[in-house]
Formats: sequence, structure tokens, C-alpha cells
Amino acid sequence: MEKLLNELSSECGSAYNVGSDIEINVEIPENLKRVSTLGLPSVAENDLFRHFTNLSRKNYALSTVFYPLGSCTMKYNPLINERIAKIKEFISIHPYQPSESIQGVLEVMYDLEKDLCEISGMDHFSLQPAAGAHGEFTGLLIIAKYFKSIKQKRTQIIVPDSAHGTNPASAALAGFEVVSLKSESDGGILPEKLKEILTPEVAAVMLTVPNTLGIFEKNILEIADMVHKNGSLLYYDGANLNAVMGITRPGDMGFDVMHINLHKTFSTPHGGGGPGAGPVGVKAFLEYFLPVPRIEKKKSKFVLNYKKHKSIGKIEAFFGNFQVLLRAYAYMKSLGGEGLKNVSQQAVLNANYMLSRFKGKIDIPAGNRCMHEFVLSPKSLLKNNLRTLDIAKRLLDYGYYAPTVYFPLTVEEAIMVEPTETESKETLDAFIDTVIKIIFEEMVQIPQKVKDAPVNTSVRRLNEIEAARKPILKWE
Ligand SMILES: *Cc1c(COP(=O)(O)O)cnc(C)c1O
Repeated sequence: MEKLLNELSSECGSAYNVGSDIEINVEIPENLKRVSTLGLPSVAENDLFRHFTNLSRKNYALSTVFYPLGSCTMKYNPLINERIAKIKEFISIHPYQPSESIQGVLEVMYDLEKDLCEISGMDHFSLQPAAGAHGEFTGLLIIAKYFKSIKQKRTQIIVPDSAHGTNPASAALAGFEVVSLKSESDGGILPEKLKEILTPEVAAVMLTVPNTLGIFEKNILEIADMVHKNGSLLYYDGANLNAVMGITRPGDMGFDVMHINLHKTFSTPHGGGGPGAGPVGVKAFLEYFLPVPRIEKKKSKFVLNYKKHKSIGKIEAFFGNFQVLLRAYAYMKSLGGEGLKNVSQQAVLNANYMLSRFKGKIDIPAGNRCMHEFVLSPKSLLKNNLRTLDIAKRLLDYGYYAPTVYFPLTVEEAIMVEPTETESKETLDAFIDTVIKIIFEEMVQIPQKVKDAPVNTSVRRLNEIEAARKPILKWE
């Protein structure tokens, strides 16, 4: 166990003397002066340096281990983007600065919106939302305002049961009633089934393409047509955009509103929950409703326009998470159009390579081919009271971050794997061999060891519910 800095503190250790070179020329009244010492730990520089290095090595991170987390797209984040995000001229600006003095910043955002339009086939983007879920919420507020503006009362949002939990949550938060649609075994939608619940009350249908089982929605054009004929709108959850860049576009498929998780598709480290960015894109007829400010170009000058009377208003402070936007911009510009297409092709190739090595050994409910991710269901192989959770925990002992488990909810004992585009065949093979070893050898031969896993990590198996409900934040 790594000690706390206070425990490492000793009277003779000191990395830096805070007090000696600070001169204070202010008269401080006697009664406000400190009477005790500050009580900061004093630790020698070597010990301090080692302390933080040791702590950092207890973390799982993309820079140290393979991270096959499905749906989240934990992809390689080139460090050059971190450098760019730290450029002094970007980090030292103030959001209240007049827009004439931040033309470069506005140009980056203006240009990024245009690039997202090009990639997605939408007509306009707002970079304001701070995450995918926030983008969904924003998109649904836009949909609500649109129907209000044409004086139609539509109260329902249809969401397939294979969707990410944020979809129904965002719809409910935006004031809609959520109607669940039962998906097929590959996560797809049958137009006949959708038709049964597609009533005049439906404001929008939210779809993820490819869906959360990694399968492209083959009926999408027919679905889009049905939805529009019903006077409803079609929402695209863009979390899986990494599979289709440069190959197909939500705008061309008939989607009216969408979000993109920049932190999934366009670099930015997002382990630990953020920060992210979930720009929301719309077709031209919905532009008025986008959140303010809008970035506009007037005679080669960029301006922030807050005066949009039909807008849903402000949904995030200032410009959104600008540093995330900047990383995405740098990532897109450094790869270019062909490069981004290559990203998707490689991601799909890697996932299919893995899928074909698992095929015949572990049940794959969605079948023979996938897009950028796939879902295994080892249910029939589970023995000795072991479950998918135990497999995931055991993987930690082998130095892997665990894949997403028990999602989507429609697959029993699900293990969802997304290798991303930059992993080598050797890395993929080693991971596949380890999963097979755990399921076919260890669960049979050393079940107790699997049940006890992880044993090689700095923290053993947590009671995850208790850990979330009653976190112990202080080490006694
Ligand atoms: C990650 C994800 C979301 C939510 O995005 P956040 O950026 O985490 O808020 C929504 N849908 C799908 C399919 C996702 O994978």
C-alpha cells in the first residue's frame, strides 16, 4: 500500500521550500495571523517523485494496457493532441474576452463544426454539449421545441431495448414518455414491429447505428421513411461513429438529429469519466433551435451570436469543453479524410479478426460478422457457479482492462469487446488466448482462483454497490 504524503512526511525532508522566497508586503491584522504552522507534509524530492510515480502505476491506462471496453471506444490518443491542447495561447484566454481577440479559437470551432457536418452528412452542428448523454438531452430539447413550434403535441420517444441506458434517461429528462421497442437477436429493428407502436404521439425514434451488438441496421432507409411518413423525427446516437467514418453518413441515412461523442471517435482520454464533448448535429430545418451561442462568420470575422430567439437557449458554460474540441480538431486534421476512413476500416477489421477467432468456441448471438465491436455470451460455458463478472475480474490479473460486461441488457452474461483500430495482431491474439484460457481451463481447473480474482491488483474485488453507495474516501 502506497503511504499518504502526510505519512511520508519527515522533518528533514523537503522538496521545495514554499515560504522562503515569497515576500508579503501587506499589513495583516494581528487577529488574522496564523498562530500554528501550516501543517503541510515535507517530503524529500525523490520520495515525492516516487510517490506520484507509484500511484500512477496503480492505474489501468491505455498507455500501459489493452483496453477492450465495448461501446466506450477507448482509442489511442496521440500525445501530440495533449501538447496542442496545452498551447499557451489557448489555455490563457478568458471566456469573457472580446471575440475580436480570440479569432483563432473561434475559427477552430467554426471549422470543426464544418468538418463534423462533412463527416456526418448533417447541415449544422453545435459544439456546446459536454458529453454524449448531454448531446442526447440537447437533441431531445430541440425535438421538443420543434414540435412546439409547429403546434403538434407529441409526447413519446421510441427507444430499442438494446440501446445505451442514457437514451431512455435523456428522453425522460427532456419530459418525454419512453416507449421501449423489442429488438431482434442481432440488436436490429424489424420495421413491422416499429410500425405497431409508431403512433401520432411519437416525437422521435432514437437509434444507434451500428447498434450496440456491433451490427449495422440493414433496414435503416425503410425505417427512416416510415418515421418521417408518421411526421416523427429520427435521432442518431453517434457513439459508434468509429465504425462508419468515410463509409456512410447518418445524414444520408435519413437522420434528423444526432450527437457525436468526440471523446470516443476523435481522441481525448476519457477514462475516469471525462471531460468529454457531445456536439449535436441537425438538418437545416432544425438549425434555429440549436443552443446559443452560435459561431458565425461575417465578412471574414468570426462572431458569437447569442441572439437566436427560437434557440433552446444555453446548455453549457461559454464554449463547451474547448480543450476536448481542440484535441478532436487536431486529430481530424492530422489524419485527414482518407485517414479517418482508414480508422474505421481498421477498427472493423480488428473486431472481425477477434470475432472469427472466438467463433465456434463462445456463443456470439449476433452472428458471423460485426462492425467495430461484438458481443460474446459465454452463458452455456459457465461452470462452478462462475459468471461473466468473474471472467472480467480474472482478466485484470493478466494485465488487461476488463471489457464491458452485462451490456447490452438484451444479451445474457454479455461480454462486449471493442479492440479499436490501433491494436496490433499480437495484442489481439494475446487477449483472445487469455479469455479462452480463463473460460476453458481456469474455470474448470481452478474455479476458486477465478472466483477470488483479481489477486494481482492493488485493490482486490470490491463490493461494487457498497463502493458506490458508501465510498470510503479516507484511509485510516
Ligand atoms: C457512451 C455512450 C453513450 C453516452 O455517452 P457519454 O459521452 O458517456 O455521455 C450513449 N450511447 C452509447 C451507445 C454509448 O456507447
